Amino acid sequence: SRVPIITASSCLELTLAMIKPHATKVPYIVKGVQNIIISNDFYIVRSKQMTISPDLAEAFYKEHKDKFFYNRLITLMSSGISHVYILARQNAIKKWREIMGPTKVFKAKISHPHSIRGQFGLTDTRNVTHGSDSVESFKKEVSLLFPEFNVNKWYETEEIHFRSNN
Ligand code: UDP
Repeated sequence: SRVPIITASSCLELTLAMIKPHATKVPYIVKGVQNIIISNDFYIVRSKQMTISPDLAEAFYKEHKDKFFYNRLITLMSSGISHVYILARQNAIKKWREIMGPTKVFKAKISHPHSIRGQFGLTDTRNVTHGSDSVESFKKEVSLLFPEFNVNKWYETEEIHFRSNN
C-alpha cells in the first residue's frame, strides 16, 4: 500500500479567528466571512458562538491596556455574541491576516478593498474580525477561548486526517 510522504511543509498551522459582536448581528457579513474561510481552503477545526465577558476581553487584549482605544475595544468585545473559530491551513496565521486586511479601516478600504475589513469594516474598532498574529498569540488566545482544546494533542491525533496525501 502507498505510504504518504509527509514533509514539514505539508504541516498544517492553526490560527484563532473571530467574528466580532457587531458583525455577528449582520447575516450577510457572517455569510461573507464564512465563504471567505471556505474558499481560501481553511479547515474549520472548532467553532462556537459565545458572549465574551469584560474580564475575558481584558485578558484577551491585555497587551493593549494602555492604548487610547482600549475601553472602546473591551466594550465592543463584550457587547454581544462572537463567533470563534480554530482554523487550520498551511501558513494559516499569515494567510488569515492577509485576508482580513489592515487593522485601520480607512487603509483597508483604500488599499485592500477586497479584504474582509475592506469589504465589511465600519470603524477601526468595529473592524469585523480578529486573527492571531503569531503562534504564541494563538496559544494564548486558544487557552482563553477554547480552554478544553489541547494543541499538542490535536497535532498528535487529528492533524493527519486533514492532510492531503499527494
Ligand atoms: N483598534 C482600535 N483602534 C486602533 C487600533 C486597533 O479600535 O487604532 C482595535 C481593533 O478592533 C483591533 C484591536 O483593537 O482589531 C486590536 O488591535 P491590533 O493592533 O492588535 O490589531 P489586529 O491584530 O486586530 O489587526
